[in-house]
Amino acid sequence: MSLISQSLALAPAYQPSPNNDITPPEPAGRTKRGIADSDKRWPDGVITVALDLRDEKSKALVVDAIREWAHHTPALRFNIVDGKTGDIRISDDEGLKGNWSAIGTQARHIDEDQPTMHLDRTDDSKKFRSTALHEFGHALGLLHEHQHPQNTLDWDRPQVYDYYTSDAFSEAMVREHILEPDNRPGLQITPYDPQSVMHYEIPAELRRNGQGIPKNTTLSAGDQQAIRRLYPPVNPT
Ligand SMILES: [Zn+2]
Repeated sequence: MSLISQSLALAPAYQPSPNNDITPPEPAGRTKRGIADSDKRWPDGVITVALDLRDEKSKALVVDAIREWAHHTPALRFNIVDGKTGDIRISDDEGLKGNWSAIGTQARHIDEDQPTMHLDRTDDSKKFRSTALHEFGHALGLLHEHQHPQNTLDWDRPQVYDYYTSDAFSEAMVREHILEPDNRPGLQITPYDPQSVMHYEIPAELRRNGQGIPKNTTLSAGDQQAIRRLYPPVNPT
């Protein structure tokens, strides 16, 4: 892993619906690039995470996903509360659609009465937890691994367009959010990692070598390395 930082605009689907995993658009005037880490990385200290979720089981799954990241971010402390008030605001409101999150401190630019992350309800606990794990990676500042500038995805491009293009997801969006590597300056880059939770599941038919990439449901060694690099332990003085 990984691409870190600075997201902008719409990111595409977390499998399989292209309508999902949409990152809120960058507020006007916030499109600068460059020092992405300092731009989107949370400062060391306490982050309040508000859970506005339907039941205790959903909350437990999200807390479990947060803890998996938190184990590798000793410079951050997550104060997890019920409700809608916090730095990171996670909702499963059925009035909203898709699985998406603000990227890192982009959350600060979202209206305080709005969630910064949305998770679609599902009775599939494993899927819900792995989606929460992926989205919380975005909330910490991580970007999509399949757009890593050194990715080795030998896309079968016509198949990719066939698979993802829809009324809601144009060919241009497929290009921008699936096919094109993210070469913006200022990103923290660690080696490309197909086992990252920030990588999409890739069906075998979308690659010319015919090898699919499975859905990753736990932090890879590369994810751990990337997040520790973004949030290094605070040295005692
Ligand atoms: Zn995503």
